Amino acid sequence: MDRLRFGTGGSPFSSQKRSTLSGIERIAELGLECLEVEFVHGVKMSAEEAARIRERSAALDVKLSAHGPYYINLASLEKQKIGASRAMLLQTAKACQAMGADRFTFHPAFYQQRSSEEVYPIVKEQLQLLRTSLLENGITAVQIRPELTGKPTQFGNLEELIRLAHEVEGVALCVDFAHAQARSGGQVNGYDDFAGMLTQIKSELGKATLEDMHIHMSGINFTAKGERNHLVLEEAEIDWRALMQALKDFKVKGLVICESPNLEEDALKMQEYYEGIGGRG
Ligand SMILES: [Zn+2]
Repeated sequence: MDRLRFGTGGSPFSSQKRSTLSGIERIAELGLECLEVEFVHGVKMSAEEAARIRERSAALDVKLSAHGPYYINLASLEKQKIGASRAMLLQTAKACQAMGADRFTFHPAFYQQRSSEEVYPIVKEQLQLLRTSLLENGITAVQIRPELTGKPTQFGNLEELIRLAHEVEGVALCVDFAHAQARSGGQVNGYDDFAGMLTQIKSELGKATLEDMHIHMSGINFTAKGERNHLVLEEAEIDWRALMQALKDFKVKGLVICESPNLEEDALKMQEYYEGIGGRG
């Protein structure tokens, strides 16, 4: 990616219509630079719509990503749900290819009382199968990016994601820093923690990974069970300014998708702050 770009998860609220096309126009008007298309309740997009989205986003230089359906569980105890999850991810990838998005993210799985060591190989195998079916469908330029999840019952901590990105071709990560705070019960928050995560990514996956990151950010409300709901930045404990400083210092490039309830307002707030600060080191 050419630089760190800021945008929203779903079309900005101030878009003329709640369509992706209208969202792309609004992103560009606001001076934001990317948009995550939400397929969280299912993948629905006609070929005509995808073609128009592809054309407008390229013309306005708005980079696109997608978020797969919420009901995915690649390690479900019910076998047919695993296959259905993989099918939904393939559909998401096809939509990405059609609209010109180079990545999609999703919540990969639940532990369901099992250990990380038990669930990891199941998820890994499913992602390998997914990658194979992407290639069989001629989808070579769409990255599979499992997300750092917000609850300790969900598979998807930083270690698991790094390992998947390391071991499965075509897999990268989506780092949700608000989820990192929530799943740690609030322990992960502040410059040293964020910088520590970036250091871990850099040392295990290499500098190139930091040059094309996919990031989710918002304020977040959580309990001992992890994520409850998203908050606007100023109402949350998360030290978002420290995160911006860490992203600057580590020369991170890629997409920052704002998932605060006020979408574009917080996206612009982060972008403005990020652009106003200098990097250290
Ligand atoms: Zn998500």
